Amino acid sequence: MPSVRGCFQAYLHRFKRDDSLECPSCPGEREDAEFVFFVCPRFNLQRDELKTILNQRIQPETLAEAMLSTKAAWNATSTFATEILTDLRSIERRRAKDSN
Ligand SMILES: [Zn+2]
Repeated sequence: MPSVRGCFQAYLHRFKRDDSLECPSCPGEREDAEFVFFVCPRFNLQRDELKTILNQRIQPETLAEAMLSTKAAWNATSTFATEILTDLRSIERRRAKDSN
C-alpha cells in the first residue's frame, strides 16, 4: 500500500513546475505549491486556522497523517488546499493577461 505521505507529496508535486515564478510576497522564493502551503506568509491567516483545527504545526512531514486523523481535519486541510490553489490560479491568470 502506498503511503499517505507519498501520495500527498505526489499531489503537491503535480503543482510544482520547473517554471514556477517568484512569489509576489517573497522575493527570491519560487512559488511552488509546497512553498505556498507550508512557508509563504501570504497564507499565514489560513495556515493559523488550520493549525488550530489540527492542533499541530503545518509541515510536510506530518500534514498527511494529521489530515487523516479526523473528518474535521480532512475538511479543514481540503479547504486550505483549495484556497491556496484557487489563489495560485488567479495569480497565473493575472500574469498571463499581463504578459499579453
Ligand atoms: Zn510568498
